[in-house]
Amino acid sequence: MNNLNKPRGTQDIYPPCSLLYQNVQKIISKLLQLNNFQPVIFPTFESTELFTNSLGSTTDIIHKEMFVFPDRKGRSLALRPEGTASVARLVCENKLIQEGYPLKFYYWANFFRYERPQKGRYREFWQLGVELINAQGIFADYQLLKLVADIFYDLGIKNFIFSLNYLGNSETKENYKGELKKFIKAKDIDLCEKCQERYQNNPLRILDCSVCKKKTSFPSYKKAWNKKDREHVNKLDKLLKKFNLPYNYDYNLVRGLDYYTGLVFEISLGKDKALLGGGRYDKLYQEIGNIDVPALGFAIGIERLVNYLEISGLSSKLLADFNRVDVFFFLSVSEFYPEVLEWEEKLKNYSLTTDYNLETRKLKNLSKIINNYQPRLLIILGEKELKTKKILVKDCLKKKDFFVEKKELIKWIIKKISKW
Ligand code: AMP
Repeated sequence: MNNLNKPRGTQDIYPPCSLLYQNVQKIISKLLQLNNFQPVIFPTFESTELFTNSLGSTTDIIHKEMFVFPDRKGRSLALRPEGTASVARLVCENKLIQEGYPLKFYYWANFFRYERPQKGRYREFWQLGVELINAQGIFADYQLLKLVADIFYDLGIKNFIFSLNYLGNSETKENYKGELKKFIKAKDIDLCEKCQERYQNNPLRILDCSVCKKKTSFPSYKKAWNKKDREHVNKLDKLLKKFNLPYNYDYNLVRGLDYYTGLVFEISLGKDKALLGGGRYDKLYQEIGNIDVPALGFAIGIERLVNYLEISGLSSKLLADFNRVDVFFFLSVSEFYPEVLEWEEKLKNYSLTTDYNLETRKLKNLSKIINNYQPRLLIILGEKELKTKKILVKDCLKKKDFFVEKKELIKWIIKKISKW
């Protein structure tokens, strides 16, 4: 089967890991709904130009990471490498902006980047992206950071800290670029080959270079802030402190893409790569749709999140809370099938997860069934039950057996679960 294996940098996700993906999605979706965010779905591929225009022509994504292909008419298309540009296109193309009202959108989507595969870095990966569009000011910044914090808390992650920086508008950005270039020149810093190019085209990206970062400490971005920038940062600090959101400033954090202005943030856990990144991009909509729309957002890498949940031991709780079969009907005689089908229907009305063996099996397989399905209640339906009309129910959690009248069975189960 060698030549039929999955392509490099892609993954097969199956139980129990796929259940973790599903449960993470359930928990986060509930929170997004509570915060009045709504889902959007956009194409897996777009015109290549959408990304080349918006992400910055000198970013790695554009340079070497996009999967680009011509369609049959020779138009250049690209598999989406990220979601923000697509959402901006979706908003502009469908004219969704309404004066004075923010759009609060989110997406679960797979993305494609031709990167060198390694742990936590794939060529196809999943992100939850959240976009707060047509939203300005301190409370928009706060709302987004608070949402991120609530997502982490709801997943059981408590030891996270935001890394923040404030890039300011294009004027502040240009100021800093000037400072940075001056510093590099004055100290005669020996930049790597790539960064020598970046020095000319996009000096901010030098701060992202793992090689050059080690050689020196670059000037703090704080130096470039003007009075307005400082006021914004002070106000945000106050809110974050008041509501106990954990954060540190990293005055060299700029993030990979060109479109950021204002607040930028990341969360890393342990020594691993960033799990989440986001920020404000007030000029992106101008670039894509020729409209002035301030916006901000973040994206969480789901593989990295799930991996963290697994290594930190949080995944077992998430799996246990969701993925137990509540009631399993074990049939060793076929006469019970019609009743089991009716019972299942009834129990589903109580949001219970139920299952049964599709073909009759001998009673000696019981322990294998328990191991495989780990049911809370196991309902045994065999010869004996057929004769006596009394059903053996095994409470597998408390390890207790009960004999229940067949006609009382569903009532009994419902009473039992009301005490769980
Ligand atoms: P970005 O879109 O580059 O800001 O990335 C946002 C998040 O997506 C990162 O913090 C990662 O968690 C995740 N991510 C980005 N690139 C990859 C990749 N190649 N493989 C897996 N996760 C990724």
